[in-house]
Amino acid sequence: MKDLCCLNGRIQPLEEARIDPLDRGFLFGDALYDAVRVVEGTILHLDSHLARLQGGLERIDIDVPVGLASNCRQLVAASRLETGYLYLQVSRGVAPRSHEPPGDITPTILILAVAHSFAAPASRAMRAISRQDDRWRHCDLKTTSLLGAVMGKIEMRDAGVDEVLFVGDQGQVREGGSSNIFVRHGDVLETHPADGRILEGITRGILLELAEQIGLPCRETPPLLSERQEWQEAFLCGTLTGVQPLVELDDEPVANGVVGAWTKQLAEALEKRNRNDS
Ligand code: PMP
Repeated sequence: MKDLCCLNGRIQPLEEARIDPLDRGFLFGDALYDAVRVVEGTILHLDSHLARLQGGLERIDIDVPVGLASNCRQLVAASRLETGYLYLQVSRGVAPRSHEPPGDITPTILILAVAHSFAAPASRAMRAISRQDDRWRHCDLKTTSLLGAVMGKIEMRDAGVDEVLFVGDQGQVREGGSSNIFVRHGDVLETHPADGRILEGITRGILLELAEQIGLPCRETPPLLSERQEWQEAFLCGTLTGVQPLVELDDEPVANGVVGAWTKQLAEALEKRNRNDS
């Protein structure tokens, strides 16, 4: 067998294939994949695998590439793959790094031909462990598997706003797609606790310290959407965001759309701290 792959429709030696560092598959996990069994040079259930892949791509708003089936067949023939599998990955493509993708972007399509000898049917006694299903629940890890965030950012982009806020089942306001949030409610600053449901932002931590120094009472408790009419002010924060007032949520003004006094005070305090630290 020859070690070939098919990258963007071009069959080439695997060792020569190169993916751009700005590819969103690499930077954000903004990609889907499928794997298809090949037995004696025949690709099994290719239509079902491609239908699943294409259905997924449509759901996350990636343009479905044409010619995948013929690329797969050409690669099997060119590489003389007998028994093994094809690994197909389609990423959103290459763009300057930003959670929200540009509207016009060309997907990156990679197909690998992998030789593999499969265990004979019902020949391998399998052992397992059981664990709580925590997949997608590791918001405290600054992982590059950001597809969930990217999906939120696409909705944000399409709504023509600046941030998406992720909310729990009981309306707990957790955090932004790339920021943390503070809300002034009953003259206390509320921000979601760092309990694994949010990224424990460095800026959030500094602001908690600064609020204490200034004498602004803080509570690490989830702001509730059901109480949003009572919010006196709200702001977003992050390394790239700094401190910015949240003036509108779901087409309704927050605190009459006015930039709050505590927001300004903390924004200035953070600016000063950043200057002193630099
Ligand atoms: N939450 C999420 C999901 C983020 O991506 C970011 C930005 N890194 C933040 C919060 C803010 O964290 P930091 O202050 O460390 O930038």
